[in-house]
Amino acid sequence: MNDPQQRKRIALFGSTGSIGTQALDVIAAHPDLFSAEVLTCNGNDDLLIEQAIKFKPHCVVVVDESKYTKVKEALSSTDVLVFAGEKALVEVAGMDIYDQMLAAIVGYAGLKPTLEAIRAGKAIALANKETLVVAGDIVMQAALANRVPIIPVDSEHSAIFQCLVGEVRNPIEKVILTASGGPFLGRKTNYLVNVKREHALQHPNWTMGAKISVDSATLMNKGLEMIEAKWLFSLRPDQIQVLIHPQSVIHSMVQFEDGSIKAQLGLPDMKLPIQYALAFPQRVKNEFPRCDFRRFNTLNFDEPDYRTFRNLGLAIEALKKGGNLPSVLNAANEIAVYAFLRNKLGFLEMTDVIEETMQKVSFIGEPSLDDYYESDGEARQYAADLIKL
Ligand code: NAD
Ligand code: MG
Repeated sequence: MNDPQQRKRIALFGSTGSIGTQALDVIAAHPDLFSAEVLTCNGNDDLLIEQAIKFKPHCVVVVDESKYTKVKEALSSTDVLVFAGEKALVEVAGMDIYDQMLAAIVGYAGLKPTLEAIRAGKAIALANKETLVVAGDIVMQAALANRVPIIPVDSEHSAIFQCLVGEVRNPIEKVILTASGGPFLGRKTNYLVNVKREHALQHPNWTMGAKISVDSATLMNKGLEMIEAKWLFSLRPDQIQVLIHPQSVIHSMVQFEDGSIKAQLGLPDMKLPIQYALAFPQRVKNEFPRCDFRRFNTLNFDEPDYRTFRNLGLAIEALKKGGNLPSVLNAANEIAVYAFLRNKLGFLEMTDVIEETMQKVSFIGEPSLDDYYESDGEARQYAADLIKL
């Protein structure tokens, strides 16, 4: 085992989620390389307690303050410090008790702790794409100013990142962002109008949290990923092509100026990009199942159905127009998705809510961080009023 001094100390923000729990599996498999020093959750106190007992972090944060006493009592016989609330989440992100953050909170809630971590000089393994959708310019500038690497966890962006290793001086002509198409690939509006939560949560290739599962079903996820790619790799909108690839074996591709294309392939398993982002620049041996191409003797590619999956067009509009529009798109989408998940809004109505909110919230061409916060609040309020929440 490595000297414990040399182990990378990881802070898992969103440790109880789909990405967070898979990251803990990776950490548990490599105790010589990593230790979990911070675990955080919104309200899943039972799982947080279980994780804290197993991984013995420096501290845990439960955002829902009503859960504080229970977590504190459950961990009273350990050395684990317990904090609660949104403010504590941001404060812990700035503490000198870890080396790298895994940003795996879902949605806008991930932005503030991630920015704080960047300001504190921590490397970021970024799963929380909404952070870049909302305030990509500010986040990337802060990373540059603090010399902080942002290593993507999102499988497509991890693929692009991996294709770019060793290509520092070679400009990108375009990136090809692959998309499985989600559970409703090939379906039309007359089918989608009746779709309910249970259908939308059944993704063919990936098991994920509820919000990103719905985003994958509406193709909003791919739209958010286009905006994420713009900031991560400094791309113009016309350099980002979305390609439907139902098998999810090619995780994405980069085309260089000589026309040559590099791709990264593998089975659809988030543990691989998580491990890559935690261990970068090392590739760590593991026991994950290997890709057998005899099982995939056909790989298909197609153009997305923009007429049916209108969210993708809305995201492209936000990508092209920039300013605060992506943050408005994101906020309206979060409100719409949570309303859909509670059966308060139809599948196709989500798009109407996002579209109308984007038209109504005032456009700001060069927003400050406070402008982004305000646009987020304004868009949430507008979307919630539309749905009559
Ligand atoms: P999830 O819903 O399974 O987990 C979310 C985590 O965030 C949980 O630990 C939860 O407690 C915490 N959380 C939720 N709301 C919070 C709040 N208001 N404040 C603080 N913490 C809060 O989500 P997930 O599927 O793990 O996704 C996490 C992020 O990773 C998302 O941004 C998603 O887009 C991205 N991502 C996920 C996958 C995947 O396979 N799941 C793939 C690529 C990218
Ligand atoms: Mg993805």
